[in-house]
Amino acid sequence: MYMRINGAEVPSASAKWRDVVNPATGEVIGTVPDGISEDIRAAVDSAELAFPGWSEKTMRERGVLLFRAATIVREEHKRIARILTMEQGKPLREATDEVRGFCNVLEFYAGLSSQPAGDAVRLGGQGDCMVMHEPLGVCGAIIPWNMPVLIMGWKVAPALLAGNTMVVKPSSTAPLAVLSLAKIIEDAGIPPGVLNIVSGSGGSAGEAIITHPSIQKVSFTGSCATGCHIRKLAGSCNKDLVLELGGSDPMIVMHDADVQKAVEGALRGRFYNAGQVCTAVKRLYVHQDIAESFVHLLKVRVESLHVGNGLDPQVEMGPLNNRQQYDTISGIMNSVKENGEGTIQTGGSPFKGEGYDNGYFFQPTLVGDVADDSALLTGEIFGPVLPIVVFPDIGTAISQVNRSPYGLGASVWTRDLATVKRVFQDVHAGIVWVNRHLTVPPEIPFGGMKDSGVGRENGYRAIDEYTRTKTLFLGW
Ligand code: NAD
Repeated sequence: MYMRINGAEVPSASAKWRDVVNPATGEVIGTVPDGISEDIRAAVDSAELAFPGWSEKTMRERGVLLFRAATIVREEHKRIARILTMEQGKPLREATDEVRGFCNVLEFYAGLSSQPAGDAVRLGGQGDCMVMHEPLGVCGAIIPWNMPVLIMGWKVAPALLAGNTMVVKPSSTAPLAVLSLAKIIEDAGIPPGVLNIVSGSGGSAGEAIITHPSIQKVSFTGSCATGCHIRKLAGSCNKDLVLELGGSDPMIVMHDADVQKAVEGALRGRFYNAGQVCTAVKRLYVHQDIAESFVHLLKVRVESLHVGNGLDPQVEMGPLNNRQQYDTISGIMNSVKENGEGTIQTGGSPFKGEGYDNGYFFQPTLVGDVADDSALLTGEIFGPVLPIVVFPDIGTAISQVNRSPYGLGASVWTRDLATVKRVFQDVHAGIVWVNRHLTVPPEIPFGGMKDSGVGRENGYRAIDEYTRTKTLFLGW
């Protein structure tokens, strides 16, 4: 599949290609151009050319086109979901959810296009002011492999609605669905050059987006390590950023929780997308009064999960997305075993056997008695491994969960409003769910605190990330 610049399919100036591998089978399912800085320059040139025409349209006109794109994607959702499963590994049901989620995001922002986009301020004898919200110009977006379609929507929809044009770089291990969507967006009538997609590595194409002088702002989603690097790079060229980084979300289960519901919440919260979700339940804290029965019930459910190739409709959990991810999770679990960092309740190793040998399959894993300084609690475990901590009271749980450097999401499972209030006030997180976890609809702002990032995506205010105000002061 080619990159998309100025509405055309193009190879890279590097003349090199990268294989895209199905993580369930190890088969090469496609190739994409290995984009470099020359390609980013060409994409920025095309976005700059398209900017005057796109930004001069009314917001309503841009909204209509976004809505039309969502309609076409809905019609083609099965094809896109299949591509996503094959390159990313997630079960077809989850891939379908993700493609529909992309449409929801486009439709949500299209719906905002009839809102007034400015303010009028009367200043008595001094005069009156009109505050206009202008698009920034060309914006960049850098996307990870775990939810490439949804995260593309989170960035592209508010930025395009506001009148910006874009250069987007998907991850090297999941670029195909993003490229397919870009074609549909053009087919919907969004003019050539408004949305350009350059595939390629982070170090080459990604850094070229950060450092290109004509790109006004970059929205980046990815790991904390890359985010930290990008922040320094962007600082050196005075580039504005939105950073949506890693998380290590705690799930706190109180003694008065609806246990059955909480077990299902932990199962879905941790093992959806094989645990490769920024807001996955990455640490489970269970009150001591219910810990034994809760862990038993969860273990039964975890052991019943059907793991395999996501194209099989029976499959509930697919492989990890890539070799590096597989080696990282295997290495962490080896260290847990060698150093006695916890007691493995179930799983703990790669899957072996027929149907699994060529893929990056890892067993759904529960670990109890976890040492405080284990990487399972201090880092971000981006895979199907759930560390469990038993706590005596909510005060202890809150101080334990806040030790993490991350602050993306958190959930509490309880029937007690006072506990809800305390967790909401005291836990470091951008979102606190009650009796739920993982859900991130486009209507609400999403983003983290501490090492989990800066800025917010989603919600109507995300449009502000892609505009600047300009004021006309009328002295009369
Ligand atoms: P990653 O940081 O390795 O890569 C993310 C993107 O950045 C890719 O497109 C990659 O090519 C690019 N990149 C890598 N190095 C770069 C560089 N030097 N300059 C510019 N771009 C560069 O992350 P990943 O492994 O693809 O994704 C998993 C991470 O993303 C996890 O930490 C997860 O928590 C996080 N994530 C966060 C959110 C959120 O909204 N907070 C959502 C999804 C994923």
